Amino acid sequence: MRIGIVGAGIAGLATAAFLARDGHAVEVLERAERPSPMGAGLLLQPPGARVLAELGVLEGVAAVASRITRLEARTPGGRTLLDLDYGLLAPGLHGLGLARAAIWSAVLGAAERSGAVLMPGRSVAHVRDGEAPVARLENGEERTYDLLLVAAGTHTALRAAAQSRLYPWGCLWTTVALPPDWPGHVLGQRCVGTGVMLGVPPTGVAEGRCIGALYWSVRNDRMASWHRAPLADWHAAVARAWPEAEALVADLPREALNHATYRDVWADPPHGQRVLLIGDAAHGTSPQLGQGTTQALRDAVALRDALRAEGPVPDRLRAYWAMRRGRTAYYRRASRALTPVFQSALPGLGALRDVFAGPVGRIGFVRRQALLTLVGAKTGVWSADPVG
Ligand SMILES: Cc1cc2nc3c(=O)[nH]c(=O)nc-3n(C[C@H](O)[C@H](O)[C@H](O)COP(=O)(O)OP(=O)(O)OC[C@H]3O[C@@H](n4cnc5c(N)ncnc54)[C@H](O)[C@@H]3O)c2cc1C
Repeated sequence: MRIGIVGAGIAGLATAAFLARDGHAVEVLERAERPSPMGAGLLLQPPGARVLAELGVLEGVAAVASRITRLEARTPGGRTLLDLDYGLLAPGLHGLGLARAAIWSAVLGAAERSGAVLMPGRSVAHVRDGEAPVARLENGEERTYDLLLVAAGTHTALRAAAQSRLYPWGCLWTTVALPPDWPGHVLGQRCVGTGVMLGVPPTGVAEGRCIGALYWSVRNDRMASWHRAPLADWHAAVARAWPEAEALVADLPREALNHATYRDVWADPPHGQRVLLIGDAAHGTSPQLGQGTTQALRDAVALRDALRAEGPVPDRLRAYWAMRRGRTAYYRRASRALTPVFQSALPGLGALRDVFAGPVGRIGFVRRQALLTLVGAKTGVWSADPVG
């Protein structure tokens, strides 16, 4: 088939690689003149790593990544909110902390080697479904395909029947150099009520130095006042939340911090006749559970498998969604439930969390469910893929 893909993010590029390998003629329409990864770093879960292995790029990516074996969130006073050890599910199980550039370049390389054609500087203004779906570009040009995939990210307007709600809170993020004694296998987070959240996932090695992403929770409507306030006020807030992290931000200029916003997106079904939404465009979440890239990569494999079957394209898209619906619905609901517990202005919620999260999280059943959720294994509320 002639397949058009809108968006050269990780969802679009991984899908392009798999489908071009299967012999389809794939074009990736990307609005950026010079495509590049967006964001500082991310946590990739084991099912996502398996997809990278299928693409043949896991080894190179893992060589520059941090092996993350634990996630811990605490209050500045030392109270444990979350303490999840991957090894409790299976020995050696781990996530990968990655600079976005590392995974994006690897997936781009796989797409290019497979014969997919990347077309930068092509901003798609509109998509039209039908027997021969059409992408209309901003410059008026129309490109017709047999199948059109929209992988244009969480904020895209190229979707008709999806629910999409901007979360009131986002984050400031940047990349920081980590000192040699920083625990390189732990994604650490500090929370003060539900208004302050500071996280530092180690994201591997760049230019011989250990690096990490640093994120700081912000209410989107308070960005202007954050910009007006002296930077020293923010440094002081970081020091109060996590004294050891103060040194990470001491020399950061304001411009090094980028504001990210996120959405709760749900398109069910994400397809029409021959247009399909994939990745964040179909099931965007807040990053609380660190699942977006893993789920985007799984979309790519599921679509490849569904398109290998015989039958009319709309049936194959339905088969794709039958494979993906349970998992993406679970992670979307879990992310919606969890986000206000860490980022909101709900009075008293932070205090309740601080009292109950630690003890409840030590109950065996709860801890196992939390771990299965973290490692990307859940397929529904009561079901999970085998781990290990
Ligand atoms: C702060 C933050 C932290 C995150 N942390 C994690 C994490 O730890 N772990 C994790 O798994 N995930 C994380 N995510 C989510 C993760 O980044 C995404 O889920 C994942 O990258 C999949 O994105 P995507 O490819 O669907 O979309 P995107 O990466 O948004 O790519 C969309 C692409 O489409 C292009 N585009 C958009 N509109 C058009 C158009 N009209 N025409 C042509 N091109 C267009 C864009 O330029 C872009 O290249 C995080 C996200 C944020 C914001």
